[in-house]
Amino acid sequence: MAEHGTVFGAMLQEFEGAARILNLDKGLWQMLTHPKRQIIVSCPVQMDNGEIEVFTGYRVQYNITLGPAKGGIRYHPGVTLDEVTALAAWMTWKCAVAQLPFGGGKGGVICDPTKMSRRELEALTRRYTAEIIDAIGPDKDVPAPDVNTNEQVMAWFSDTYSMHVGHTSTAVVTGKPVEMGGSLGRREATGRGVMITARESARHLGFSLEGATVAVQGFGNVGGTAASLLSAQGAIIVGVTDWKGGVYNAKGLDTRALLAHVAQHKTVAGFAGGEPLAADDLFGLPVDILIPAALENQITEANAGRIQAKLVVEGANGPTTPAANRMLHERGVFVVPDILANGGGVTVSYFEWVQDRHGYFWSEKEVNERLETKMVQAFDAVLQTAQRYKVDMRTAAYIVAINRVATVTRMRGMYA
Ligand code: GLU
Repeated sequence: MAEHGTVFGAMLQEFEGAARILNLDKGLWQMLTHPKRQIIVSCPVQMDNGEIEVFTGYRVQYNITLGPAKGGIRYHPGVTLDEVTALAAWMTWKCAVAQLPFGGGKGGVICDPTKMSRRELEALTRRYTAEIIDAIGPDKDVPAPDVNTNEQVMAWFSDTYSMHVGHTSTAVVTGKPVEMGGSLGRREATGRGVMITARESARHLGFSLEGATVAVQGFGNVGGTAASLLSAQGAIIVGVTDWKGGVYNAKGLDTRALLAHVAQHKTVAGFAGGEPLAADDLFGLPVDILIPAALENQITEANAGRIQAKLVVEGANGPTTPAANRMLHERGVFVVPDILANGGGVTVSYFEWVQDRHGYFWSEKEVNERLETKMVQAFDAVLQTAQRYKVDMRTAAYIVAINRVATVTRMRGMYA
């Protein structure tokens, strides 16, 4: 069992609050706080300079009670087994909140993709896939993109798996290019879900997105899409930071121009349409909505007191520490937790998996409409639970998720 203070420890603290309210029995508590399977692999890759480097990779299948494990693969120098386990647990709760027939999984490889060539990334992806191949499959475990992985990485993953099994398997991975069985709308889905939950929260709190000010941490697939969809709804994006710097414009940043800048320079830093903004100053901006869309542990006891936003929508996984979460709740900040707010990505991954298995593809309009319905249903279920138990939205989301997984665990009973 991970110690408190780790990423998995943070997940356990969140779990505990809800499990206690549910009066979860000891056996189920034990089952739901242990990962079902943790795989560690060594992936040797011949680098462009001819030398061999060995990369450590993980795949954690946290829980598969509701269906195949589901969750992304992250490439990052800071990846640890503790982090991947927490992320796999969060996928379990996220899929349950969204009522998807999936369990939770996550993968990660310790590497720095910014320092690797395209050929090296392809070799690493293929070797990692080959090393975990027995554990994955459309009915077993279905990976997807996460931090620093994209449609191309999923294409290599799918090809490697398909070559091993001897036929083209589209449903083994989601977030693929549309040409090879990906779903329309998948790339934007997480950001779109963030926009939908922000809109529903604002309505609940009594304000409109029209004219609301927004600060966004992280301008990758999630933060970038959320910012442009929110701005299309009339919100004003005043501040954005990423791994390299930030930009601020009180009148609103032109998100389209900012996305074009990022496509060219890989960072928002240096964008001409605003003034420089220090990463540390983002959280204290006088805005209505704050969207952390980068990594874990960003909103902490050190900066939670400075947050002026009345609404925080977690685009990232685990951006708020448990202590910071308590501080925000006590100050009346409405926090939409990751396992609800960023569930749009895996929801459209589910649609992609369904389309692949049917071999019948939907229009982008159908995908977006179904995502809208699912996100609003999930938001309403969590909000009603929060009101019923008089708890914050995070605890409520865990109550919904734990209840769903625990109910099926009880129904299925114990195998031997
Ligand atoms: N990596 C994304 C997440 O954290 C998507 C996972 C998926 O689509 O399976 O939710």
